[in-house]
Amino acid sequence: MGEVDLHLHTTASDGRLTPPELVRLAAGRGLKVIAITDHDTTDGVRPAQAAAARFADLRVIPGVELSVDIAEAEVHLLGYWVDLDNREFQQLLAWSRDGRVNRARRILEKLAELGLPVDWERVRELAGDGAVGRPHIAQAMVEKGYVSDIREAFELYLGRGRPAYVERERLTPEQGIRSVLAVGGVPVLAHPAEIEGLEGHLPGWVGAGLAGIEVYYAGYTPEVVGRLLGLAEQYGLIPTGGTDYHGFGSPDEALPGSVDVPWEVVDRLVKRRFRLAS
Ligand code: AMP
Ligand code: ZN
Ligand code: FE
Ligand code: FE
Repeated sequence: MGEVDLHLHTTASDGRLTPPELVRLAAGRGLKVIAITDHDTTDGVRPAQAAAARFADLRVIPGVELSVDIAEAEVHLLGYWVDLDNREFQQLLAWSRDGRVNRARRILEKLAELGLPVDWERVRELAGDGAVGRPHIAQAMVEKGYVSDIREAFELYLGRGRPAYVERERLTPEQGIRSVLAVGGVPVLAHPAEIEGLEGHLPGWVGAGLAGIEVYYAGYTPEVVGRLLGLAEQYGLIPTGGTDYHGFGSPDEALPGSVDVPWEVVDRLVKRRFRLAS
């Protein structure tokens, strides 16, 4: 069990636990440093920090996870310590969330054409006040009995290249990196092992200011971790890590803290952050 988990979702996006519920779980599991990294929103950060104030030795790093676009893949970018009150940045996040709503509606159209109607109202309800994501659609599909679980919904319909997949407008990785830097954040590439042609992209992203890559991640084998550590060293990137916990409740889900992330990572991130801010 680790004491650091830098990739966690709440009901502010597609996680199932509210920020206080997640904080309680993390504290109960002995975590000392967590980052809230919801998709395209920072709304979960302050409630999590308020909840964490009751636990003397738990710190919450404010974060966000942006979806950025390259032709061949879905790429996610984590931003740590982004300025929560920056208006332009919040407008950018709002633009991304609008894109999520439009995409979700188009996915529902495709599902209807496939003979699998899902009510938009139900998806909206499942998302609550949070940013809508495909997991909410997947959950509605499970409720309808179309699929047995969320994973199956992605494998058969919602994943990239599957029949109900819909693209949305996104920033380029370089734009994402610059937007995070512009508000004092530390940009880190999320779950990079899945990105085809990663080695080819890295020099450009590092040039744009990428500061880290996620190396310690749920399901990554020692071989994958070794390869990513090699890349981190080669490009001077901070090797971060986390579970990407959503609280989906599936039996194979990695719980907060179940991926070991060295403390040194936090030290390096903090140093980087203050260098950037100064
Ligand atoms: P979205 O934000 O709508 O693009 O959806 C991305 C989210 O869907 C990820 O953060 C995961 O939570 C979830 N997801 C993506 N692929 C899968 C999969 N194959 N099985 C289950 N969940 C997935
Ligand atoms: Zn998610
Ligand atoms: Fe992600
Ligand atoms: Fe994530």
